[in-house]
Amino acid sequence: MSHSTPSEQTQALLVREHEVTVAHAAVPEPGPHQVLIEVAAVGICGSDVHYFDHGRIADFVVTDPLVLGHEASGTIRAVGSEVIDRSIGQRVALEPQETCGRCQECLSGRYNLCTGMRFFATPPIDGAFAELVLSHEQFAHPVPDALDDDAAALLEPLSVGLWACRRGAVGAGSRVLVTGAGPVGLVAAQAALALGAASVVVTDVNPHRLALARELGATDTLDVSTTRVGEAGLDVDVLLECSGHPAATADAIRAVAPAGSVVLVGMGGDEMTLPVSRIQERELTVTGTFRYAHTWPAAIALAASGRVRLDRLVTGHYGLDQVREALTVGRTDVHAVKPVVRPQS
Ligand SMILES: [Zn+2]
Ligand SMILES: [Zn+2]
Repeated sequence: MSHSTPSEQTQALLVREHEVTVAHAAVPEPGPHQVLIEVAAVGICGSDVHYFDHGRIADFVVTDPLVLGHEASGTIRAVGSEVIDRSIGQRVALEPQETCGRCQECLSGRYNLCTGMRFFATPPIDGAFAELVLSHEQFAHPVPDALDDDAAALLEPLSVGLWACRRGAVGAGSRVLVTGAGPVGLVAAQAALALGAASVVVTDVNPHRLALARELGATDTLDVSTTRVGEAGLDVDVLLECSGHPAATADAIRAVAPAGSVVLVGMGGDEMTLPVSRIQERELTVTGTFRYAHTWPAAIALAASGRVRLDRLVTGHYGLDQVREALTVGRTDVHAVKPVVRPQS
């Protein structure tokens, strides 16, 4: 490690549900294939908010204090002994995971389904609300200067949107419906447009978010608090379901044309009722998505070229001592879309 690296750092810990505290911790030493990153920006994700509110997501339970945050960018400050193609001073975006590299899923290229996955901010693996974090070299992606720190961090949600588009085979001329204009819906819509979709209709109940969707290129929006999708006369090839809302999902499936695709991205209940006869009669393909694989190169290119705008999602900046505010602002401020934590400020 370089001699300029401090021995202690600050991080924000989720102690239990509704309780976040700032704590000091030792600066970790990079392993042979790891790099140490000074964290510049970390987006707040719905999963962070869910851990804060409930102390768990499905079978992942916070039993020991956990560092949240997995949408991160920063600068490499130290490199492990075997690292050859990353260097100190390089700006990087983090793909916030480390795969086993040996299981059947890894060997098949579906590394997002790795059975030995270590994913940031998922118990017991710490995340990035910290001054310094470790990453495996191959998951620390160098970014061009055209991307600022916030945009580099938000390549992570963009990857979720890109992966959803790939699962739904969105391409040139596709007619796409995106249900839910939260951060993931807004990047999924932009990704679909960048991939050549002919039309992208975005639904939500929040008029501010619908206006933002139009600003970011959505060809049309629908306020589902007044008009149901099923009544809007839509006919689409791909549904990117980003709301997680069971009734909205079932309603939106009725807008999908024969042989179309339904991609379930949003996380709602563990179980929901779907219009099965419609899925059968129209031979719809229904698929889930789990994170992403091989998306950072495309995400970097789309954001750096300006075809996808990530900075426009950012609605506030917070220090490590304000993580609690950052996690809860969405409840009270209808304009909040993507709060970003800046650990060095
Ligand atoms: Zn996320
Ligand atoms: Zn694996």
